[in-house]
Amino acid sequence: MVRRTTGPEIERLIQLLAKLPGLGPRSARRAALHLIKNREKLLLPLSSAIDEARDKVSVCSSCGNADTVDPCTLCADPRRDRGVICVVEDVGDLWALERAGAWNGLYHVLGGTLSAIEGVRPEDLSIGRLIDRSAAGAVREVVLAVNATVEGQTTAHYIIDRLKGLGIATSRLAHGVPVGGELDYLDEGTLTQAMKARRPS
Ligand SMILES: [Zn+2]
Repeated sequence: MVRRTTGPEIERLIQLLAKLPGLGPRSARRAALHLIKNREKLLLPLSSAIDEARDKVSVCSSCGNADTVDPCTLCADPRRDRGVICVVEDVGDLWALERAGAWNGLYHVLGGTLSAIEGVRPEDLSIGRLIDRSAAGAVREVVLAVNATVEGQTTAHYIIDRLKGLGIATSRLAHGVPVGGELDYLDEGTLTQAMKARRPS
């Protein structure tokens, strides 16, 4: 018989923490203990921050960014160049580019990549909305800032083909993005460089 060391509530907290990226069962256990020990300083504020995020976070209906307002803070910012859209796979990539200060245009979050193996089709991603956005306004250029993986590049090709039909210039990130590299893991200097040296495609 498995011997119980904590009540089911704490066990549940540990199991949920273990689902977070970067936390295994062992570090989840340590995190849970740390929270319990720091009830006032950490456990209560974290719990109310999670409540608030649950109530307020939504997905921007224009670009797909996660924020508490729709359109999101970036889409609503009048200082950003509305003639250029940077396409990323995931919100994490958008945040990485923002942290690096590498981009001052608008964004578009695809929500993944095309994949024949996993059955992800163009209509499963927000490609249709990207085409609509690009065709509707004064968009001069769309930058494909997708990961340097096979799926990322296949997705970029597909989008470039569709945008070319509309006469919109497209470009991709240049050197600095290693093959197989994920944007979220690159340092800020590398990302900024890759954005500056983007090439027409
Ligand atoms: Zn937005």
